[in-house]
Amino acid sequence: MPQAIRAAVCRLFGEPLSVESVQLADPVRDEVLVALESCAICHSDIMAISGRWKGKLPAVFGHEAVGRIEAVGEAVTGLSAGDRVVLSLIRFCGRCYYCQKGDLAFCEAEFGLASRSPLTLSDGTPVVHGMKVGAFAEKAVVHQSQCVPVDERLDGDIACTLSCGVMTGFGAVANTAEVAAGSSALVIGAGGVGINCVQGAALAGATPVIALDIHDEKLEISRRFGATHAFRADMDGASLAAEVKALTHGRGVDFAFVAVGHPPAIQQAVDLTRDGGQVIVAGIPGRDDIAEIIARTFGGRGISILGSKMGSARPHVDVPRLVDLHHAGHMHLDELVARRFRLDDINEALDLVRSGRELKCVIEFGGDA
Ligand SMILES: [Zn+2]
Ligand SMILES: [Zn+2]
Repeated sequence: MPQAIRAAVCRLFGEPLSVESVQLADPVRDEVLVALESCAICHSDIMAISGRWKGKLPAVFGHEAVGRIEAVGEAVTGLSAGDRVVLSLIRFCGRCYYCQKGDLAFCEAEFGLASRSPLTLSDGTPVVHGMKVGAFAEKAVVHQSQCVPVDERLDGDIACTLSCGVMTGFGAVANTAEVAAGSSALVIGAGGVGINCVQGAALAGATPVIALDIHDEKLEISRRFGATHAFRADMDGASLAAEVKALTHGRGVDFAFVAVGHPPAIQQAVDLTRDGGQVIVAGIPGRDDIAEIIARTFGGRGISILGSKMGSARPHVDVPRLVDLHHAGHMHLDELVARRFRLDDINEALDLVRSGRELKCVIEFGGDA
C-alpha cells in the first residue's frame, strides 16, 4: 500500500519548494524503502531546482541522504529492515559494460525506477524521482545498489555528506587524478565538492594546495581543510597567475581541479596549470553552457583536461574508505556541516546554500528514523 509522507516538491523551476503530503509506493523486486535521518543539500539540487538542467516537474530532488531501511522488495539480497545506509544517486547493475569497467556512474542497465517513479502527488499526478533518490522527503524508495551500509558511530548529519559531495571531491583527487605526494594542486571553488578536493589533495601529500573562491569566508574555511594558500578567484588574472607561479617554481600547478559549474573556470584552471599538467573538471554547468578553451592548450602545452563524474566513485568502496579515514582523524566531516534545518524550513536552507557563503546545510527529519 502506498503511504503518505511529507516531501518538498518542486512545482515550478526557480520557485520555493512546496512542503506537502505525497504518496510513496512500496518497494518492489530489488527496491528498498528507507526512512531518512538526514539529507544534505548539494549544489546539484540547486541547479536542478533552478531549471538550468531542464527536465520535468513536479519533482522531489535531494540525494545526499542517510537513513534506516524499513522494508525491502522480494529480490533484495544482503540488505534488510533496520540496516543503516547512506543513499547514493549511483544506481548500477554490476554486469553491463560500464559496471564491468568500474565506471558505475554510467551504468546502462534499465531499472524499474527509471520508468516508474514511486512518488505521486495526493491527487495521483506522477512526481519525478529527482536525482534517482527523491530525498527531500521523510522516506525514499531506491534500488538496492544505491544503499551503502554505514556504521552507527557517525551522526546522520555527517554521514549524509559522504554520499555525494565528499565522495566527488575526494574521488576527483584520489580516483580520477591519482595525485602523488609532492605534487602541487589548485582547487577552484571551495564548496561542498571543492573543499573535499582540498582535503583530498592535502591527504595525498600535495603541496602547495591552493584554494580559490569568490567568498572570503570560504578561503578561511579552506585553510582549515588543508589549503596551504587561498586566493580570491575573482582577482585579476595576471596577479593570480603570478601568485600561483611564485608557489610552483614559476611553472603553475601539476593538478587543477574545477569544482564549480561556471564554464570560464576551466580556462582559468588551464591558465594556472603547468605545461603538461592536468585539469580535472568535476563541476557540472547548465545543460547548454559552452566553455571556451584556448586551442593550443592541448597540442601546444600538453595539458590534459579530464572529466570526473562523481569522483569516478564506486560507493561501496569509497564510502567505507572515507569513514575509515574519518575515524582515523584524517578526514574532516563534522566541520563540513554549517547549519541544520527542519524539512519545513528547506527554502531557507536552499537560500543559504545559493548564497555560496556556507558549506553544507543539512535537513534533519527528526525522530529515530
Ligand atoms: Zn550531490
Ligand atoms: Zn551496469
